[in-house]
Amino acid sequence: MKIIPARRTENIRYAVRDVILVADEAKQQGLEMLYLNIGDPNPYGFRTPPHIIEATIEALQANHNGYSPSSGIEEALAAIRREAERKDIREVRDVFIGTGASEAIEIALSALVNPGENFLIPYPGYPLYSALLCKLDAEIRPYHLDEDHGWQPDLADIEAKIDDRSRGIVLINPNNPTGSNCGEDTLRQVVELCRRNGMVLFSDEIYDKLLYDGGRHISTGSLCDDVCVLTFNGLSKNYVAPGFRLGWCIVSGPEETCTEYLDAMLKLTRARLCANHPEQYAIQPALEGDQSHLREMNETLRRRAELTDRMLNSIEGISCVRPGGAFYAYPRLEIEEADSDFVRALILETGVVVVPGDGFGQRPGTRHFRVVTLPGDEILEKAYGRLAEFAAARLRR
Ligand code: PLP
Repeated sequence: MKIIPARRTENIRYAVRDVILVADEAKQQGLEMLYLNIGDPNPYGFRTPPHIIEATIEALQANHNGYSPSSGIEEALAAIRREAERKDIREVRDVFIGTGASEAIEIALSALVNPGENFLIPYPGYPLYSALLCKLDAEIRPYHLDEDHGWQPDLADIEAKIDDRSRGIVLINPNNPTGSNCGEDTLRQVVELCRRNGMVLFSDEIYDKLLYDGGRHISTGSLCDDVCVLTFNGLSKNYVAPGFRLGWCIVSGPEETCTEYLDAMLKLTRARLCANHPEQYAIQPALEGDQSHLREMNETLRRRAELTDRMLNSIEGISCVRPGGAFYAYPRLEIEEADSDFVRALILETGVVVVPGDGFGQRPGTRHFRVVTLPGDEILEKAYGRLAEFAAARLRR
């Protein structure tokens, strides 16, 4: 007799990994593959800074291989608190470390949202949030980012989506998949909406040090001391170590507002024992040691964002807002077919792998796809060349 999986898994989609099945099919047909779909710097040749690796090896050799305290080791927590100070985050209540920011986010949502309540998440945005809300039987309330204004959150849309069952809002800043960085005014207005509606603000800042258009990153938690803000970050992107699986959550806000919620989150951290232990010794050296890889990485990403902007905007049927942070761009398709069909055919006919917009969310009637700007310049040029030919043929059909 077959085993029937739980209904909560039915609507979970994760397009970022789903396209790999199509890519494997294309590869088996002998196509030369060009992967512009992986949000991981390491396969593209970016390397974890050596001092971060050394700190982990030392921890392994010192036999820090047992369980750690559930929130994380003290020296890493202290370094994260100092990082919160450098980012001017006010009223820090506590910090905990998770197996990636992903686990910290899952703990934070699980401790907050009841079935039937809703949470506002950005469209387009990283699909982890919708997957987790599905798992919690909570309602996903998408709000739109405004493509005509550099993909800034659409404040009127946010306000219209809030009701008395809304528990919080997610801001992804800089954003995956658009590479946009929020302005201070916008952030202040989102804070104000949380203040007025008693909502928790999840500020996912995992790309905060990958900014290359001269923009300054503002931590949302630096703009208020009277709203419960959860700031998520980690080693995966800024420190080129996604496989370490280490991220964290900084809880800030007034004591009376946050305490019970914080206790619930800490209870969940205890129930899963701890995050990866030896790698936690890399957090302090990462945050406070040599940062020179960031200068180099941002210079490379700036060049590739420029190339992406120039080449994609010269293709008929495609337009692209130039990214200023993270390592993604989210070009728009002016072609009369679903982006998932376009992308599937693109992969199978040209070997260029991107992720369709329906995996990140978008305004109804619009179509997009995500590219990563991590591959070398020659690979990007070749991929965009193939994309141009493919789009031209598609338009002629
Ligand atoms: N948040 C955003 C916006 C991301 O893009 C990602 C990964 O791509 C994550 C969180 C997950 O981070 P981690 O590797 O720390 O779990």
